[in-house]
Amino acid sequence: MKQAILFAPLDLRIQEIDVPALEPGDCLIRVESALVCGTDIRIYEGTKKNNVDYPSVLGHEFCGQIVDTGGPLESDLQPGDRVAVYPLVPCGDCAACLRGRENICRQRVAFGYQLPGGFAEFVRVPANAVSAGNLVKVNGIDPGSGALIEPLACAYNGLKLIDAANAQAMLVVGCGPLGIMHIRLARALGVEHIVAVDPSNERRAIAEASGAELALAPSPQTSAQIREFTGGAGVDAMVVAVGRADAVEPYLNALAPGAKINVFAGFPTGGDSITIRANDIHYNEYSIVGSSSSHLSDFKHVASLVVSGILQVADLVTRTMSIEDTAEAILAAKAGGDLRIAIDATR
Ligand SMILES: [Zn+2]
Ligand SMILES: [Zn+2]
Repeated sequence: MKQAILFAPLDLRIQEIDVPALEPGDCLIRVESALVCGTDIRIYEGTKKNNVDYPSVLGHEFCGQIVDTGGPLESDLQPGDRVAVYPLVPCGDCAACLRGRENICRQRVAFGYQLPGGFAEFVRVPANAVSAGNLVKVNGIDPGSGALIEPLACAYNGLKLIDAANAQAMLVVGCGPLGIMHIRLARALGVEHIVAVDPSNERRAIAEASGAELALAPSPQTSAQIREFTGGAGVDAMVVAVGRADAVEPYLNALAPGAKINVFAGFPTGGDSITIRANDIHYNEYSIVGSSSSHLSDFKHVASLVVSGILQVADLVTRTMSIEDTAEAILAAKAGGDLRIAIDATR
């Protein structure tokens, strides 16, 4: 089988290897869609702080079909099922795991990081991940939508932390793929008033088509325009969905007292400082949270929204490339002309 192996930053090679042998309880997935994420770009370039151990197979957003199992499974999964893969395998007994915050377990391993990920024809899902429920059945939906469940689950985790479902108005800074996913998901959660900010005309148009009532280009007037849009009240939830630390401060004037901010994006090392006045936080009772990855429960919830058709996302995969072109796909993703680029190793 073919696997895209990253040997060092910028050194990605397609190699032919044996299909992994299965142990009892394992599943073999034939990958039908694996998406290139901003994190893959940063790992590929070597600019992510906690980098992977080389050699590594990237790709943590993927969906495929179960084609083989290591003997009978103690679950209702069977060969032929299409599954979305929850990428984290937390340790299960550190303080974070015991508090139900397994997404920030420091001992966790994950597909596309320590475990070989989706930029391959096949992925072996070990028995401990299968029995933990990492394979979520998504029969009946297209593989691209199945692969999008992972980033959507991350967005859902972040939206919960800022109580977006109860927000009067929400601001999404950055209308790249994750900004757009936040908008769609927030609409599915019933958020009525969403403002989005992005310098690209094209992305603002997508934001509006995805449910943002207003999409603005960043300018010195943007905060005032957002205030006006909210009748002077300001937004009570804000998501920073672009990896630029300077995309936070300009919008603090658009916030309502008590607003909650989620610093959702990852930022390049060295460019990750934000300035905010302590008294602004104090007198306005702002909450600033971060969110990282998702819980398995978030992943399953989002999968149910996608499988039921409440949340439609197939159009967010705007290009599909073959596994031979994985490095080109990562560079194309960086160039930013697409929302999500899929690697389809079956073609
Ligand atoms: Zn990702
Ligand atoms: Zn843990």
